[in-house]
Amino acid sequence: MINIPKGTKDVLPQDSYKWQYVEGVARDVAKLFNLKEIRTPVFEHTELFQRGVGDTTDIVTKEMYTFKDKGDRSMTLKPEGTAGAVRSFIENGMHSGVLPVKMYYITPAFRYERPQAGRLREFHQFGVELFGAKSAQTDAEAILLADSLLKKLGLNVKLYVNSIGCPTCRAAYNKALKAFFEPHLDELCYDCKTRFEKNPLRLLDCKEEACKKINAAAPSILDYLCEDCHAHFEEVKSCLELAGVGYEIDPRIVRGLDYYTRTVFEFVSTSIGAQGTVCAGGRYDGLIEELGGNSIPAVGFAAGIERLLIVMEQTGVEIPAPEVPTVYVAGMNAACRRKAFELASALREKGVIAEIDHMDRSVKAQFKYADKLGAKYVAVIGDSELEEGAMNAKCMATGESERVTFENAVEYFLGK
Ligand code: ATP
Ligand code: MG
Repeated sequence: MINIPKGTKDVLPQDSYKWQYVEGVARDVAKLFNLKEIRTPVFEHTELFQRGVGDTTDIVTKEMYTFKDKGDRSMTLKPEGTAGAVRSFIENGMHSGVLPVKMYYITPAFRYERPQAGRLREFHQFGVELFGAKSAQTDAEAILLADSLLKKLGLNVKLYVNSIGCPTCRAAYNKALKAFFEPHLDELCYDCKTRFEKNPLRLLDCKEEACKKINAAAPSILDYLCEDCHAHFEEVKSCLELAGVGYEIDPRIVRGLDYYTRTVFEFVSTSIGAQGTVCAGGRYDGLIEELGGNSIPAVGFAAGIERLLIVMEQTGVEIPAPEVPTVYVAGMNAACRRKAFELASALREKGVIAEIDHMDRSVKAQFKYADKLGAKYVAVIGDSELEEGAMNAKCMATGESERVTFENAVEYFLGK
């Protein structure tokens, strides 16, 4: 017996409707904002993520599924969706075409993490990328799209926003951060000591309790924003107010990824504890150029579909039940089953969900099975029905039966 790899999950046939529901709502919301879907490969050249995600990030240093293919090339399973989308945007010349380009993706993502609730090694993301616009309204639109999705899914989550400025303001801020953390170096975790040297901003992102305590008193990036970044952030906030989206400012949000500039945001659910961030994103004006494209600004986010589902389940959000068969056509014997088969084919051709017996069950057992499937009607064909060319259609909800000729079956069940 071979088991499923640690940190991965099957989506079983009886549960997949939940996924389809969340994905369907995501697609609907993306459509409202006029986004088109992009699909990129599940694996890419490792270098794409090293450069695109950043080689000081946890993702690149610890979490990537990297392997050599048979041609001795280093490949990596995508740990997130943005790098591939940007690669494709550049490679297909979209960066020199008409802007903005607004796209979304639904993709598996792979990270070698310690599996726990809401933290898997294969998970799924719905993500959005808005390429080409630097305006604060575009940031607000990305946030609004995420907010609409979460509201449509019935989630009660909190939005936290921050600005981490541009390379100019960050230089001054990094200096201030280093001065602040220097006396605490001994108390910081191992990773934070490296962060201190390589990317002080990331110190604020640490999840260790000891580091978090120290972080609480760190200087705020918001006091270091240059005039342009400050104005941009003010405009983002005012757009959110225009749209009636509530938010809180959290100067501790820096995001794990290297390519973020200015606006960063997270939607957090209080109902699932440590893994409460269901959606996160921000602006990354430097990434497209970093990956070899023109200097083009961008903003986006990704939502973890598993985490959305966990929160929905924990807060009792009702997911619409999947469709059930309209009719189950039962057959008494071989000849009757042939008729049931023929009728079911005709019904399906016209769009009626029809089911028949596949297991040579008795009529009684077929009835029981049809009930278990939730079929709205059960029609039984016996020898006399076959002879007469008509059958009784029993409505399972009311228990009432009506005579339906084989000829009229499609007409009868259409729209039931
Ligand atoms: P975290 O701080 O929880 O590790 P992250 O900053 O690594 O999150 P992102 O890279 O921003 O996460 O990914 C966007 C979203 O994808 C997260 O907000 C979360 O909902 C989801 N996500 C990230 N990693 C995992 C994982 N290992 N398992 C399930 N969902 C995940
Ligand atoms: Mg992570």
